Amino acid sequence: MALHKPPTVKPAATEERVIRYHIDYSWWEKTGSDLRLFLRSHLCPMHQQLFAEFEGEDQVDWIDQQTAEVRRVDGLEHTLHAHCSRETGYITPNTSLVNAVFRVFLANANQPLTAAELAARIGRSVDTVQGALSGRTIYKGIVPLAEEDDVLGSQ
Ligand SMILES: [Zn+2]
Repeated sequence: MALHKPPTVKPAATEERVIRYHIDYSWWEKTGSDLRLFLRSHLCPMHQQLFAEFEGEDQVDWIDQQTAEVRRVDGLEHTLHAHCSRETGYITPNTSLVNAVFRVFLANANQPLTAAELAARIGRSVDTVQGALSGRTIYKGIVPLAEEDDVLGSQ
């Protein structure tokens, strides 16, 4: 006779805050860094060439899938998302960790991800990813999502 073992239920996750990261594009403005130049370096070879010949304000409307907010984005961002990030060789073991993480966010339209999710996508250890992203130095605007955003997101 099988004993009905009560399912082992974990106590409702004791408010363990899961940290998700994303690209804070305002960091680029605040630091005066050249986002366009950096974005270009992530293009596939074909688009590298195309954009090299193409100078100008290439802005397109982009609707954020989650907030339905219409954002004026650079055509570069859009190209990266729609094409280059789907090419083979976009993220390789030779891609630096910061670049690889940045490329993941370019590919997924900057949907926030945990260190574990990022690690799985770029093939590095969670500790390595966490270590790089949780230090004092902000790399390429990759930061933890602000807490107030997190609270809103979990309701
Ligand atoms: Zn491309």
